Amino acid sequence: MAEAIRQQTYTIYPIIQPSDYPALKTINFYLIQREGGLALIDAGVDTDACMKLLENTLEQAGAEISDLDAILLTHHHEDHAGLVPRILDIKDIPVYAHREAVPRLKLDRGFLEMRLEFFRRLYSEMGGGDMGAERFARLEQTIREAPRHALQTEINEIGEGDQVFGFEVIETPGHSPDSITFLDAAGRTAFTGDVLIDGSSVNAIIDPALSGSRLPSVSQQRRSLERLAGLGADILYTGHHEPIRNIEELVRDRISRMDRKCEKLLKLIGSGISVPARITEAYYRDLYRTQFPLVMSEIIGHLDYLEEQGKITKTSDEGIWHYHPA
Ligand SMILES: [Zn+2]
Repeated sequence: MAEAIRQQTYTIYPIIQPSDYPALKTINFYLIQREGGLALIDAGVDTDACMKLLENTLEQAGAEISDLDAILLTHHHEDHAGLVPRILDIKDIPVYAHREAVPRLKLDRGFLEMRLEFFRRLYSEMGGGDMGAERFARLEQTIREAPRHALQTEINEIGEGDQVFGFEVIETPGHSPDSITFLDAAGRTAFTGDVLIDGSSVNAIIDPALSGSRLPSVSQQRRSLERLAGLGADILYTGHHEPIRNIEELVRDRISRMDRKCEKLLKLIGSGISVPARITEAYYRDLYRTQFPLVMSEIIGHLDYLEEQGKITKTSDEGIWHYHPA
């Protein structure tokens, strides 16, 4: 079991679960103990082993599930909010998350249908063809199964500048529309979910905003990385892998990787490949077939960014976008 980390006004108990996801070694979440209260930052994965790990950590802190007072979520992904229903079954405690997380956690019907239509159009306009249609059918299936996985509780919406359980909320979207970072009162320690991970690249995943519009995920992610670098924190506790101390250095590295990806894309577009799905195939080769949503998301995000920077323009031909050097 991980060592507890004592801060001036609170103690951090890291909960580290080995991960089955490829390319991720661990899934981390954190028990925070301060005078008069116990909270979780994120809630692991929905497995018996993870629940056991949480119970053992609580025991280390001299407590049990029914002593928890709040759950703070960095974002809605299933490897961060997994244990929330099990915990709430034992004790109904407040859950705090960004406004954009709410319909995603509750699997709100209207939202899911809007999201389905968003991806149907996106994949078709980006030239996704059969792969897009296949992905669309799978999304339709998840809507049918949605009620079984929906989070039933009320969620307390938090956003930029809010204070919760002694932490300041900093909005850091990009990896997901609802990604937030929790900064402690001393300004030295932050909990950032998946915005920056040591030893793994982070995808800025395309997802519609509540309004239905496409978010500029790559520019958001760049801004969020800059914000992390500018916090002045000494340490970032992350949703995966080891905590990060060389924050600025890693941020510079991630941004320069994004720049290199942009350069490669400009070259492909310059060579005459204009349809996003074909650009994705040329860039990612086999991954286009095996990781379609993820790699399409990566490329579309970068195309949006390059367009925003005035480096490329797009034209529509029979309902499909073509990108050209500006
Ligand atoms: Zn995530």
